[in-house]
Amino acid sequence: MQDCLFCKISRKEIPAAIVYEDRLVAAFDDINPQAPVHVLIIPKAHYATLNDVSAEEQALLGHVVLVATKIAGERGLKEQGYRLVANCLASAGQSVFHLHFHLLGGRHFSWPPG
Ligand code: AMP
Ligand code: ZN
Repeated sequence: MQDCLFCKISRKEIPAAIVYEDRLVAAFDDINPQAPVHVLIIPKAHYATLNDVSAEEQALLGHVVLVATKIAGERGLKEQGYRLVANCLASAGQSVFHLHFHLLGGRHFSWPPG
């Protein structure tokens, strides 16, 4: 998508601290981190929200999650734990309408979330 922020990051038109990339997904540090580790994992293809992903993207979604667990391991989070979150629509806190998962770690997280 032409004007989408995360599409632009995946096309390298806007700089980001990319920590992982392959043909299908990219991962980069969140610009406003909410925890010592705060990485966003995105499919390179544009899906506005989780609602826009169909059964055809089952393997892609699985890949995104496995990339998140790989990054968690690289950041030393596998023992202490981490949180993987996707906010769907504004009422859940979504502000960028290109599907992304937040990998958060390095501190304690309370539940229920705010
Ligand atoms: P959400 O509110 O779930 O849509 O998450 C969007 C996230 O994108 C927020 O945590 C922002 O801090 C982050 N963000 C916004 N712009 C950028 C950017 N240019 N580079 C990296 N992260 C960004
Ligand atoms: Zn996009």
